[in-house]
Amino acid sequence: MKPRAALLATAIVMSGICLGDSGPAPNVSQAFAQGPAPAPALTVKEVVRGKIYWVEGGGGTAGFVVGDKGVILIDAKRSPEAGKALAAAVAKVTPKPITHVILTHADGDHVNGLAGLPDGLTIIAHENAKIEQQGMYLYAVAEIDGGRCLPPLDRMPNLIMRKSRVETTIDGERLVLHHFPNAHTTGDIAVELPAYKTAFAGDVITDIVLLHPERGGTLDGWFSAARGLLALDVDTFIAGHSATLETKASIRKRIADLQAQRDVVAGMVDHGQTLAQVKLAMKDPEKLDIGCRGIPRPTFAENAFHDRVNRNQELK
Ligand SMILES: [Zn+2]
Repeated sequence: MKPRAALLATAIVMSGICLGDSGPAPNVSQAFAQGPAPAPALTVKEVVRGKIYWVEGGGGTAGFVVGDKGVILIDAKRSPEAGKALAAAVAKVTPKPITHVILTHADGDHVNGLAGLPDGLTIIAHENAKIEQQGMYLYAVAEIDGGRCLPPLDRMPNLIMRKSRVETTIDGERLVLHHFPNAHTTGDIAVELPAYKTAFAGDVITDIVLLHPERGGTLDGWFSAARGLLALDVDTFIAGHSATLETKASIRKRIADLQAQRDVVAGMVDHGQTLAQVKLAMKDPEKLDIGCRGIPRPTFAENAFHDRVNRNQELK
């Protein structure tokens, strides 16, 4: 099927209205409020009929590929409830069982829904993404109440990608996994389906947090990853957080827009401007968003400021 058909993706509303769960983070008190999470409303959208779907709501964008005998998920949403809702959404499209999950990276809104999925799955991730998940438990002992929004320990990745590119066949589907080092995190994977010129880009392409410096994400890594996506023979990209499907044109625009902002920040740093002055000029919010685990999400201006300072301090 022509990938162009992807751009005409048909929404199948599974239950209610998509709540735009990928929006701004809750404030600290909301993030730390305890209580059972309601089942999120998910929206399933078709990319290639009968074959490739993406699913909005309940965390980062997830997706699935219908194979010969089973279903390969890409990411698992943010909570046990969302994972259950994802499994139910898949079941409305196909009776085939979920057999594999490929994690695009280790962020909780893509991983923690594993707790709501069936047992016995093959869970694929880059080695660094697994290390990031394991590392969260090291920090958790010193965090409030022993840590929040942690990945399910009994659902750690059990099939590990260590190379930068792996071509494989799962359940009759040819997949090419691409690892982009130190982009959004240290363990980013894009999942390419060459037969359909389609790729799941994970959070390398996102409308919210561009990169997590606390998890090894870097601006150089992000630009390399974005250019790496452009180099693929792919027409349709499914982003980790975006209301629409992405194309090479839209990714090129993201690169150009962010490079322009990066240049502005670099110029200000070179003229001795402080971080506060840069944040003001770049219209950063006064308070940072706080992620589910209580870690602030840095803005692009902050990342670009520190990146430029480090460049200017380089030992040559
Ligand atoms: Zn992410």
